Amino acid sequence: MPRRILLIDDDRLQYRLTQGQFGQFRAEKFELDYAATYEEGLARLLAGGHAACLLDYQLGGRDGLELIREAVARGCRTPIIFLTAETSENVDTAAMNAGALDYLVKGELNPAALERSLRYALKLGDTLDRLHRLATHDDLTGLLNRREFDRLLTAEAERAQRFARPLALVMFDLDHFKNVNDVHGHLAGDAVLREAAACLGAELRVVDRLARFGGEEFALLLVETTPSAGLEAAQRLVAAMRQKPVLLPDGSALALTVSAGVAGLPAQAPDAARLVLAADEALYAAKRAGRDRAVLAGSSGGGA
Ligand code: GH3
Ligand code: MG
Ligand code: MG
Repeated sequence: MPRRILLIDDDRLQYRLTQGQFGQFRAEKFELDYAATYEEGLARLLAGGHAACLLDYQLGGRDGLELIREAVARGCRTPIIFLTAETSENVDTAAMNAGALDYLVKGELNPAALERSLRYALKLGDTLDRLHRLATHDDLTGLLNRREFDRLLTAEAERAQRFARPLALVMFDLDHFKNVNDVHGHLAGDAVLREAAACLGAELRVVDRLARFGGEEFALLLVETTPSAGLEAAQRLVAAMRQKPVLLPDGSALALTVSAGVAGLPAQAPDAARLVLAADEALYAAKRAGRDRAVLAGSSGGGA
């Protein structure tokens, strides 16, 4: 499958010209997609699936720079190359500041220059993707890291409040995990953390966000989920851990359990920070009640 490049330009002639130039590329053949308006271009860009985007400066009276800013603000990380009709230092700098990776003048374009610019943008895009993954994921488990989880939690809590939608948070903590390290060694402990993360992750919907919150603590964010549905999900995961022994590096199997605390917004907390506190308190109630169970914030505890 050739990689797809999106051209956003209100001039159909430019589309045909670019298509002709794409046909003369030497190293890699790309598939060229086309959007003729600001709105369509933004929608296609945000929908993803493009390795890079060529973006016209003037889009039927709307500003291409504005499109870059809007796309970036909405989480788009597709590399963008800016196209303009004429050379201008101001536009060059403005495009770079808005988030474009390169700037090309249409009249000076030839297949070799376009191919070269795309190659650099794609390479830089790959590097940025790798950096982004490093910055947002935990090395050991591959789950989201604490920083990314905090960012998502804040955003989802604001969204839930604004649209009066339910949001549930589950905090997990492995039971007696210190024993695993003490008895089997730290490397076995690491392997157990990876296996526990995979076991929890295997049970989830695509919209659910699971993170390594701290050492042997995991956090699960459930959008559009009531506290009782959150409790059910937590109980399902607690049961899954109980039923699936984890494999140690030496090939032996180890029974491992987890405790969980569940809290819901707005039922048990009004904002993200207090949601974490409430789920944490419920988690400690689960520990006190004997571990290997899930407890809903504000309830009396108990029931595995
Ligand atoms: P409890 O049931 O009350 O949660 O008991 P626990 O032993 O799990 O709790 P405690 O908080 O005392 O111990 C957590 C342990 O997790 C201590 C720490 O050494 C270990 N730990 C934290 N991060 C890592 C890690 O990345 N790798 C390994 N191997 N161990 C870790
Ligand atoms: Mg702990
Ligand atoms: Mg623990």
